[in-house]
Amino acid sequence: MNRLSAIRDDLATQWRRLGDRPGGVQLMEVCGTHTVAISRGGLRSLLPEGLRLISGPGCPVCVTDQSYIDQAAYLARELTDVTIATYGDMVRVPGALGSLAEARSAGADVQVVSAAHEAVALAARRPDRQVIFLAVGFETTAPATALAVQQARREGLGNFSVFTAHKLVLPAMRALLAQADVRIDGFLCPGHVSVITGWKAYEPLAAEFRRPCVVAGFDDEQILTGIAEILRQLAEGAPAAVSVYPPVRPEGNARAQEVMAEVFEVADARWRALGAIPESGLELREAYAEFDAARRFKLPTFESHDPPGCRCGDVITGRCLPTDCALFATACTPRRPVGPCMVSSEGSCAAYYKYHHRQAGKEQA
Ligand code: SF4
Repeated sequence: MNRLSAIRDDLATQWRRLGDRPGGVQLMEVCGTHTVAISRGGLRSLLPEGLRLISGPGCPVCVTDQSYIDQAAYLARELTDVTIATYGDMVRVPGALGSLAEARSAGADVQVVSAAHEAVALAARRPDRQVIFLAVGFETTAPATALAVQQARREGLGNFSVFTAHKLVLPAMRALLAQADVRIDGFLCPGHVSVITGWKAYEPLAAEFRRPCVVAGFDDEQILTGIAEILRQLAEGAPAAVSVYPPVRPEGNARAQEVMAEVFEVADARWRALGAIPESGLELREAYAEFDAARRFKLPTFESHDPPGCRCGDVITGRCLPTDCALFATACTPRRPVGPCMVSSEGSCAAYYKYHHRQAGKEQA
């Protein structure tokens, strides 16, 4: 028997041990990379009937509040000496002022970077421009932003700033469990984030809410192993925080945590669909205020809402599947995305479109 078969057998055994549970079991993955891997591997089709996987707020672009998207477009469009440096997925997110790609077509300077330090290099090359880095993402990318800010200070770059929307995963998981209308029996916790935070970070959540929190890796075997572990914990009535992903240490990456704490302080943050969550974001400390774009530039406020008809907010909170959205694969496709979940390579709607809808031969012209 190969390893994958053995894992599937274990999963089936744990499922049988659970016995009949009204409404089955619903597990949430809180990582965009898991969302894509589950769809790519067709893993839902390997699960017993009654075991359902839903996506949570694990895609950095998807959870970014719409008002931030609109403020970024404002910076690009209205300030003539500004260069926006951003990850590629952010460029196509639609907004009230259009996307950053549309701003670029209208003459704005929007540059795609693959890492925060590239934005610092851009600022060094272009002293005539104010380079603003759109700092989105979770604990995974926040240390790199912190290092970029420190580098900009060392190099004396007065034309570099970050517009931060960094978020912390654990407060969002806690907020999700407070939602009365979404059932979450266990969490498949994010591998990359957990490399930074460590798996012990989930222990309070597992204990308080009595939900398994299992960190898993990203290939089919690792994901199914994580799911089997959640089922085992449920069957034994012993929810806990554990990792089945070897790179994740109990306490995480101390150096990354240190640099984050040096540059950022924890603050309340707005999430798409979840609204303001206490202590769920990162803001630059006063000591680094000179690099804070929100303080350097005067920004108007925008309302936070999904584009008309778009259910991204419901998708990232597990209230519906992408296919429940009336716009899915009709008005909304990867070529013409309506919401961020169809834009981002880690978005649920894009993953469903690529690995379920398109492979079923239903792609729209
Ligand atoms: S299919 Fe498009 S419009 Fe519907 S929820 Fe997803 S991104 Fe939004």
